[in-house]
Amino acid sequence: MCGVFGVSLTNRNEAARYTFLGLYALQHRGQESCGIVTSDGEALATYKAMGLVSEVFNDERLLRLPGRIGIGHVRYPRPGQSSVINALPLLARSRYGKVAIAHDGSLVNADELSEKLQAQGVIFQTATDSEIILNLIAQADTTDLEQAVIMAARQLQGAFALVIMTEQCLIGIRDPLGIRPLCLGKTEDGYVLASESCALSTVGAEFIRDVLPGEMIVIGSQGFNSYYYGWHGEENLCIFEYIYFARPDSIMSNRSVYQTRLRIGSQLAKEINIAAEVVVPAPDSGVAAALGFAKESGIPFELGLIKNRYVGRTFIQPTQAMRELGVKIKLNPVNPVLKGKKVILIDDSVVRGTTSAKTVQLLREVGVAEVHLIVASPPYISPCYYGINTSGKSELIAANYSLDEIRAKIGPDSISFLSLDGLYRAVGNGAAQMCRACFTGEYPVPIPGEKPNDEYKVRCV
Ligand code: AMP
Repeated sequence: MCGVFGVSLTNRNEAARYTFLGLYALQHRGQESCGIVTSDGEALATYKAMGLVSEVFNDERLLRLPGRIGIGHVRYPRPGQSSVINALPLLARSRYGKVAIAHDGSLVNADELSEKLQAQGVIFQTATDSEIILNLIAQADTTDLEQAVIMAARQLQGAFALVIMTEQCLIGIRDPLGIRPLCLGKTEDGYVLASESCALSTVGAEFIRDVLPGEMIVIGSQGFNSYYYGWHGEENLCIFEYIYFARPDSIMSNRSVYQTRLRIGSQLAKEINIAAEVVVPAPDSGVAAALGFAKESGIPFELGLIKNRYVGRTFIQPTQAMRELGVKIKLNPVNPVLKGKKVILIDDSVVRGTTSAKTVQLLREVGVAEVHLIVASPPYISPCYYGINTSGKSELIAANYSLDEIRAKIGPDSISFLSLDGLYRAVGNGAAQMCRACFTGEYPVPIPGEKPNDEYKVRCV
C-alpha cells in the first residue's frame, strides 16, 4: 500500500505544489517516506526523504522543484526495507531521456525479473519493484517510450498502479487486473492522476474516471491518449480498499468508500444480533461501519474512544515493539459513555489481533459491563502479496486459531466477523470478482511458492 500522484499542467509551473497537496491527501496510504519529481520541460528535479509529506516538504523545497509536470509518492515500507534509498519516485537517465517512476503495488515475479536482469549485468541500488520496471523500460527493444512502457508492463505479474514521467509527458498505467487503484482527473489547464479521488478534489481537479485495468494513459500538452495493453475481462480491485485503506471520501470503481462502509455496518447488524446499550467505533477505521450498524440495529452510536490525531497509524510502525507503544498513546476512552455499559465495539479488521486486544483491554479498564467485538470484514486468513504488506500467514490470527481461541486471545465477551456473502452484498455489483485473497486464499495472480488454498488452516469462516 502506497500512494501515487501525477500532474501535467499546460501553462503553470506549479506541478510541485499540486503534487505536494495530492500527496498530503494520500498520506494515509503510507507514512514512511515521500518524494516528488518535477520537470520544467528540460530537466527533472527531485527531492525525497523519510517522514510525512508535511515534514519533508516546505516552501523552500517546493521552490527548488520547478516545472509543470510532476509525480509523487508516499511509501508504506515492506518489512526490512525501511530506508531512504527505497523512497520513490525513482529517477534515471535512459535512452528516452530522464525517466521517473513511482509504484503502488507489488510484483509477484520481482525476484525472477531481477535475477534475469542481473544475469544481463544490470546492477540494482534499491530493493524496489520500481527499479526493476525502470530497467525493463530502458531495455525494451524500441525507441518509443510509450511502446517501451507497454513492453515492460507485459512482463510484470502482480499489482501495479504506476505514474511515470519524462521531461515532456506523464503516464499512468494500471495492471491488467486492476488490483491497485488509479484515477484520472482534470484541472483548469491540465490532468491529474492519483491513487484515490480524494487527492483530486484536494487539488481542485474534477474526477474524470478510473484508469481501467490494463490501460495506459499518456498525458501530453495536447490532452491525453489511452491505450489498452492487457485487459483481461474483469476488474479485480482489492476489496480491502473499501474495508480499510481508502479514505472514506474517495470514490473507487464507481462506489463511494464511505457508503460502502455504511452498508457493511448495516449488513453486520442484519447478521449479528447482540443486546447492547451502545455502539462504539474503533477510531477512525471503524467509524463508518459502526454508524451503519447503529442505524440498522437502533442501538445508539457513541464516540467512546478518542484518538490522538497527531499519532500516525499504529500498524505502520515497522516493528512490533513500536506498534505496541503506538497503540498506548493513540487512544483514550470517554469514561461516561462506557462505564458499566454493554458495549459493541466495531473495528474494520483484525489482522494479527494486536490492535483489537489493546482496545478491548482499554474498555475493560474503564469498567464496561460487557464488550462485544464486531469486525467489519471476514476473517483475514491469507497474506497479501500485492502490496498490502501484511505479515506472513503465521502471524495472521484468523489463519491459525478457531473463533473461540481468537476470542480468548483478544479478550472480548464475544467476537463476530462479517460473512463473505455479506461483504459481497455490501460492496455490491462486481464484488465477487474483486481481489479478496486475504479472506479466501484465492489469488487472482498465482504466487510463486504459495500453497493452494486447501492447505490453509482456515477454521474461522
Ligand atoms: P492488527 O490486528 O493489530 O494486526 O491490526 C489491525 C488493524 O490495523 C485494523 O483495525 C486496521 O485498522 C489496521 N490494518 C488492517 N490491515 C492493515 C494493513 N495491511 N496495513 C495497515 N493497517 C492495517
